[in-house]
Formats: sequence, C-alpha cells, structure tokens
Amino acid sequence: MARYTEAVCRQCRREGQKLFLKGARCYSAKCAISKRPTPPGMHGQARARKMSEYGMQLREKQKVRRTYGVLETQFRRTFDKAARVKGVTGDNLLALLERRLDNVVYRLGLASSRAQARQFVRHSHITVNGKKVNIPSYDVETGDVIGVREKSRDMEHFKALREGTTHVVPKWLTFEAEQLQGTVNALPQREDVDMAFEEHLIVELYSK
Ligand code: SF4
Repeated sequence: MARYTEAVCRQCRREGQKLFLKGARCYSAKCAISKRPTPPGMHGQARARKMSEYGMQLREKQKVRRTYGVLETQFRRTFDKAARVKGVTGDNLLALLERRLDNVVYRLGLASSRAQARQFVRHSHITVNGKKVNIPSYDVETGDVIGVREKSRDMEHFKALREGTTHVVPKWLTFEAEQLQGTVNALPQREDVDMAFEEHLIVELYSK
C-alpha cells in the first residue's frame, strides 16, 4: 500500500504546527518544530508569507490528513461520507477520523503515535470485541471493547503499559491498563478533537 515517505517532522514544519506524529519525541526538546519552526526548503520563509485563500484551504486539508495519517483517496472518501450524514460536514469529518481504529488505539494510550497504532492494527495485535481486526480505518461503535490480542500481550511495549501509564484518555473512552483494554463509551464529538483545526476550510476546498 502506498504511504507517505517524506521525513515525518518535515510534515509538521510544512504545516507550521506540531502534528504529534512521533510519540514521545514530540513532547521533548528534540521536536524539530520547536527548533526550526519555518517551512522546509531553502525558500520556506518566503513561501509562508504568500498564502492565497486556496493555499490556506489546501494546507488545512493536508494538516488534518497528515495528523490522522490518511492517504488522499481515503481522506476524500471520509469527507464524502461526512457530507452524506446529518449535521455539520466539518464536524462529521473530524468525528469520523476520530472513530478510526488506529486513532482509538492511539487515544487509549496503547500506542505512542498514530503511526505506531496503525502498525499494531496492521500486524494483528489489536482486537475489537475479542476478535482480531487488522483494518486501521475500521470505524468503532459505541460499546466496542478494544484490546490487545492474547499472543501479543507479552510484547515489551504492552507489558510496560500493564505496569501503569500516565496517559489521559478522552472522555468518550475508558481504559483499563491491567486488562490492556478500552471501551468506547460514546461516539466522539467535534469538541473531543484536541487539535486546532479549521475544518470549514476543508469543506470550502472540496465545495469548489
Ligand atoms: Fe512534529 Fe513530533 Fe517531529 Fe515535533 S517531533 S516536528 S511534533 S513529528
């Protein structure tokens, strides 16, 4: 499957804000955007000054897409689904992205980044309601129980989590560290998204 291969921190520098793509490093002094907040490339600063309306819409779309680690086609498909359901399209879009299984694994603290969460799902370490699910885009539902497959529970990463974690889960989820499992108590809403997105720009972009 095609994946984005540009250096991960360049993506944050391109969008001008932390997208939290690298786990613990993002919270450390080593974070590239803390050290060099200008866009990548020789003329990064010059590019940042001239931003058209279209440019802003495009950048916002890229920011959201890169944060959730979703490829272009899949992002567009999610947007179309968001536009079909009742409610505000931008809110629906973010809520749908939050419901992705890889995002939920990350939000529960079972992985330190969405990229790691995606790998755990793909490598069949994750279960939903006791059944192995290896599709990162799987939409969780209220009442779903997300866990770690029996065979994978002895991995060093998961063993360390069982011993305790300081990770704070969003209010729509609960997590039991000893059991390595979390429950979806309610579907996420727009206010549960903790990043400063201007999703109306994405709606404008796709409405052209
Ligand atoms: Fe972005 Fe994290 Fe890299 Fe900082 S360390 S630039 S937040 S991916």
